[in-house]
Amino acid sequence: MKKIFLFGATGSIGESSLNVIKENPDHFTLSGISFNENSTRVKEIIKNFHPEHIFTTNEKSYSWLERESNLSNIISISNNIEELADFLNSDNVDIIISAISGFAGLETSILSVQTGKKVLLANKESIVAGGDILIPLSKKTGANIVPIDSEHNAILQCIDDYSAIHNITITASGGPFNGISDSDLENISPEDALKHPTWNMGAKISVDSATLVNKCLELIEASYLFNIKESKINLVIHPQSIVHSIVTYSDGSSLCQMSNPDMKVPIAHALSDENRLNINFRELDFDNLSLSFSAFPKSRKMIEDLAREVCKIKNGSGIVFNAANEVAVDAFLNSKIKFLEIFDVILRTFDNVELSKELDIEKIYEIDKASRIMAKKVVESTSN
Ligand code: NDP
Ligand code: MG
Repeated sequence: MKKIFLFGATGSIGESSLNVIKENPDHFTLSGISFNENSTRVKEIIKNFHPEHIFTTNEKSYSWLERESNLSNIISISNNIEELADFLNSDNVDIIISAISGFAGLETSILSVQTGKKVLLANKESIVAGGDILIPLSKKTGANIVPIDSEHNAILQCIDDYSAIHNITITASGGPFNGISDSDLENISPEDALKHPTWNMGAKISVDSATLVNKCLELIEASYLFNIKESKINLVIHPQSIVHSIVTYSDGSSLCQMSNPDMKVPIAHALSDENRLNINFRELDFDNLSLSFSAFPKSRKMIEDLAREVCKIKNGSGIVFNAANEVAVDAFLNSKIKFLEIFDVILRTFDNVELSKELDIEKIYEIDKASRIMAKKVVESTSN
């Protein structure tokens, strides 16, 4: 029986992870969770999964937890990293799932990798911003970082001879605005951007899918996770979200992983060891399956090129890219800037923040902070 700690239990990936755990009661138990604000959902999780430990740094949520744990008398709770680290390093945890959204997940991703345990990584922002310390840290501690971002999990499943990889093709659904020209995207609303055609996800990643910045983040994520040059990574539009990525080998074979879009599939793969797990899934209907692929849109070439630049220059440029995007998405969701202005905020922030060759945790937070200040200035100047 493997004991799981789930960061971001109240989110979309959190829910898919809980469903895989629920469907495999002989293999997994939930020993701990983290959340931010959603105490209603936490109550349900406590009732259904009986986690021993709950972590939150949100003051209001922590006060609520103190009252709740007095009532139920079964849970240990923490709001500081030291107590959390003690629990993660104890025998109560075998596997950690990192599924907080955004840069806010970096601290707990680092803590998870420090344990040297198996870490399922959904939080792509922590690799984009912190890959330069997370990857070396995993080598030092022996932590096994297993991607559950569906494309990266697909790549992992398709790698059978790393040294013979010719290139990797990451698929993108294209989001809700696939095929629509920029002139028709001028005045689209946050509600329109949140309606993803194939995946049901949290708000931030849904907007990232609509702008295709998600694919740019995934390009950077793949270059770190698989230690592969950006020039060997292609991006392609595949609206059905059935083929989750493709690895092409030097002998001409291309291997892909397929499933209906359901995050339980990569999570189940990542949770398994030698033997695959059983989960409830919707089978592909091959009698009626039609798959299409097309080139990544030229209108997004500037942002793709910027992501490729990040892979090449590093030096904290991923921190700037990520922070500027987070500020821009937040501004768009709060109707402060228009959809297409998200790109201006990223590009203009990128040109105005100093990078650093010497990266440690403090420096990462420093560059993140400077990038957010700059991005907010760009937002202000854009919305005036
Ligand atoms: P959601 O918005 O659905 O959930 C986010 C989770 O993080 C919630 O548990 C939330 O807590 C918690 N959280 C948010 N802000 C903070 C904070 N400041 N401090 C601590 N916890 C916080 O996001 P998703 O589940 O969609 O995405 C999670 C991660 O997985 C992202 O990095 C995303 O890019 C990645 N991912 C998601 C996919 C998907 O299909 N959803 C696919 C591939 C990757 P609360 O709700 O209690 O406030
Ligand atoms: Mg993905």
